[in-house]
Amino acid sequence: MPSTHWGNPAKSYGIHLWGDGNFVIEEGVVKVNHGQKPALVEIVRALREEGFKGPLLLRFPHLAEAKVRSLFEHFRRAKEEFGYRGKFKAVFPLKVNQLPGFVIPLMEATADLEYGLEAGSKAELILALTYTRRGCPITVNGFKDRELIAIGFLAAKMGHNITLTIEGINELELIIKEAQRLGTPMPKIGLRIRLHTGGIGIWAKSGGYSSKFGLTSTELLEAMDLLARHGLTERLSMLHFHIGSQMNHISPLKKAIREAGNLYAELRKLGANNLHAINIGGGLAVEYSQQEGRSSRNYTLEEFTNDVVFLLKEIAQAKGVPEPTIFTESGRYVAADHAVLVAPVLELFSQEYSEKILRLKEQNPPLVQELYDLYRTITPKNAREYLHDALDHMESLLTLFDLGYIDLTDRANTETLVHLIIKKALLLLGDKPTREIKDILDRVQERYLVNFSLFQSLPDYWGLGQTFPVMPLDRLNQRPTRSASLWDITCDSDGEIAFNIDNPLYLHDVDVEKEEYFLGFFKVGAYQEVLGMRHNLFTHPTEAIIVFDEAGHYRIERILEAQTVMDVLEDIDYDPKEIERLIRQRIEEAEGIEEDEKKEILGELYLYLSENGYLRTINFSEGA
Ligand SMILES: *Cc1c(COP(=O)(O)O)cnc(C)c1O
Repeated sequence: MPSTHWGNPAKSYGIHLWGDGNFVIEEGVVKVNHGQKPALVEIVRALREEGFKGPLLLRFPHLAEAKVRSLFEHFRRAKEEFGYRGKFKAVFPLKVNQLPGFVIPLMEATADLEYGLEAGSKAELILALTYTRRGCPITVNGFKDRELIAIGFLAAKMGHNITLTIEGINELELIIKEAQRLGTPMPKIGLRIRLHTGGIGIWAKSGGYSSKFGLTSTELLEAMDLLARHGLTERLSMLHFHIGSQMNHISPLKKAIREAGNLYAELRKLGANNLHAINIGGGLAVEYSQQEGRSSRNYTLEEFTNDVVFLLKEIAQAKGVPEPTIFTESGRYVAADHAVLVAPVLELFSQEYSEKILRLKEQNPPLVQELYDLYRTITPKNAREYLHDALDHMESLLTLFDLGYIDLTDRANTETLVHLIIKKALLLLGDKPTREIKDILDRVQERYLVNFSLFQSLPDYWGLGQTFPVMPLDRLNQRPTRSASLWDITCDSDGEIAFNIDNPLYLHDVDVEKEEYFLGFFKVGAYQEVLGMRHNLFTHPTEAIIVFDEAGHYRIERILEAQTVMDVLEDIDYDPKEIERLIRQRIEEAEGIEEDEKKEILGELYLYLSENGYLRTINFSEGA
């Protein structure tokens, strides 16, 4: 067990590990490390002042752009270092994030690069041929029917540089038929290869012999024959593989590249003269860890690019074939960082344990009195001892209650005082808590009710146990003292991020009736949005795009409000007219209320139907 101390590191929430320089903590708040460095909490307040309550998804297009540029820059540098003559190109795989608030700014910002889109379905292919600039690459992976292939041909006729990657021989047969029907220009053809190298991690099934995708060696030979027979050999331009997402280790990738490089060389020898590209898929990992020593990946982008370029050069030299164009389809790496989910904390469930709720009597049982004295006189020096004493007293007092010697008020005072002592002790002990104290933290966690839906906004946490960096947006110059578990507002008990002693989250002891407290969930820009589901009929959060002008001032653009309750119902195919009619009818039929009141009920229900379904008010705080 590495000695994790939670003093200063907890205050920084590991931002130096996962933050990648995108965000910094200054003056106690998280700031966007760009331009004039606005505080996230300032952006959030600006949006809330315009009436957008509930969770907010903030998009930072400059972060996605920076990732794409760093990919190109790292490959440029690696090619230069190794004297590599092949080109480098990349596409963004749309399945990672198809939303307009992400895709459109990304394509605009990368217009000067050979950067295009990858599609895996008809709808994605339509997006790709709409938003990819002519000449930039489009690749199409996944299972294809005749219609999808036909759309590919139409894209080629529109002048797009499109490659259809086939996953099986039958797809090649369909392409050959469409070529006979539609003639030229036609798409280029790629072959997805079935590697014997497997991926690793949660997504391992994307690679390896049992993988869902790709052609075996025999099928590759069959494909070559088919192409030759139909005079299409010169259309074969790319080999493709994808060994799975979030590769934690570099070694499977290196094996896959060796394998793919040799297949490329062999196919060239068999007459595939236009085969010039190797598409290494995605899988480049994102650092999600907030804990020292628990890194999500064992390599850097520099190592990754060096390995790819070096290995492909080596194989090309050894086999006497041209150095291939390198294609990547990194999705998670490009998209994850750009989005931050901000959700307000609505309530702290054990906050009732405050001094003002004590019901001390004139004459308390001696042990309760002693607890009270401990609480009043605890200091950094005696904190550990007093904590032990308090826990002892609590055991005794609970036994006394069971035996009927103390009453409910005494028991309530005991619980409150012990909680107060623990809180105070943790604060006083500062940087020196032991394993024992961490166990206590585990027992006295505070449950924070957070205005968001885990199922809608962090589905990979629910489905795969993927954690995301999470931290409060302000108060970062105060030590967080509460071990926290987070509850979302769905009525599902899975909607919880439980406190985990190996990956602990500590938050501040705030009074949310008096002050706002926002949590930021970072790196949620990849996969979460379209995978997110409307469990309990919670819709996507209100989103906004944050851009920077030349002077570095931020601007909020393209606010997309969360769907209204009626929109959500319509989305799952209820008929809004029928809902309105039935509601009206039920109110009409209601007995014992006046006509005026009926009108009011109807009016008020209509108002709620036109708002989004996230919680707006709770307790006394206005507008959650
Ligand atoms: C999902 C997928 C990607 C993207 O993978 P990341 O891990 O997000 O980089 C790339 N290529 C193909 C074929 C995919 O299926």
